[in-house]
Amino acid sequence: MRFADVVGHSGVKDRLIRMVAEDRLPHALLLSAPEGSGEMMLARALAQYVHCTGRRPGDTDSCGHCPSCLQHRSLNHADLHFIFPVLKKKSQDTVSDDWMADWREFINSDPWMDFRRWQSSLGNPNGQPKIYVHDAESLRRKLNLSARTSDVNIALIWLPEKMQPETANKLLKLIEEPEAGTMFILVSNAPAEILPTIYSRCQRIELRRIADAEVASVLANGTEPDASQFAAAHLSEGNVIAARDALADTQASQLFLDFFMQLMRLAYTRKVGELKKWSEKVAELGRDAECRFMDYCQRMVRENFIMNLQIGELNYMTGAEQQFSSRFCPFINERNVEEIIREFNEAETDIRGNGNAKIILFDLAIKMILLLKA
Ligand SMILES: [Zn+2]
Repeated sequence: MRFADVVGHSGVKDRLIRMVAEDRLPHALLLSAPEGSGEMMLARALAQYVHCTGRRPGDTDSCGHCPSCLQHRSLNHADLHFIFPVLKKKSQDTVSDDWMADWREFINSDPWMDFRRWQSSLGNPNGQPKIYVHDAESLRRKLNLSARTSDVNIALIWLPEKMQPETANKLLKLIEEPEAGTMFILVSNAPAEILPTIYSRCQRIELRRIADAEVASVLANGTEPDASQFAAAHLSEGNVIAARDALADTQASQLFLDFFMQLMRLAYTRKVGELKKWSEKVAELGRDAECRFMDYCQRMVRENFIMNLQIGELNYMTGAEQQFSSRFCPFINERNVEEIIREFNEAETDIRGNGNAKIILFDLAIKMILLLKA
């Protein structure tokens, strides 16, 4: 990771580069930022910059191709030690290294470091990952023993707020009495939850949120951002992870609206064969999305009923939803609204209970033919 690959944070980059040039890097640096700010990328770029052997005086970025930079790229540099929250393995002395293969895959696939994704890649989305005490001991050994290939041994700690208190106490000793040529970089999303003794030992840099335009360009992945990408960026307040989720929700609701419109049009025109194809198509979404779609349909039916009653101010629909509903809403009235909502609700319960989605959805579609005539 080079500074050039890090989105935003130009002021902090300059400051870090100056610190290196003037030999003022602290023993312990705490970079804090809300999740989704690219904070870990900045930390990795700094570590690579410090270790780079192809860099000449005055260069403001690592070279990207010296052996050291290549080892950083593969997350394999002998003097770069990662510590991060994990779940306990069967052995008593769980350390981050036990999860190294999963960690490399995670950090490569998502350098923005979505914690929920890390949590589920550990195999238990409800588990509470921690930094266990053995990590502090194993780090002490590594810092003492490692066959150095560079002048600085760097310990990069992701989410120090997830440290168990014993871990923090052991690490504190290492931070208080650092070996020469050792540097700690702590990357936190919740600095207020870090043990105060550790927090106070660190030189702290708080990162600013990245700009909406920068978030939008991350979502657009190098192309010109479109309106939905700008909207998602704006809603997420500089958090790329939240923006990605918001964009995925928007895309899902466009798909859901399409499926909803198809169902209602085909049911109204009694196209049974087409309804069968519709149910097969929706059944490809997978159980979770099918259930969310059934939720969506219930909301749309409710909104259309309200629109039909002409209670304008109670309407919560997107432009596209309103456009369809302005013609569709007369079909949802006091005679069928409850029954239609109940059918969607029952279909959702049946799908959740492992029923055959194709059959449940086709059955629902056929009932809709009659219900729309009411
Ligand atoms: Zn280099």
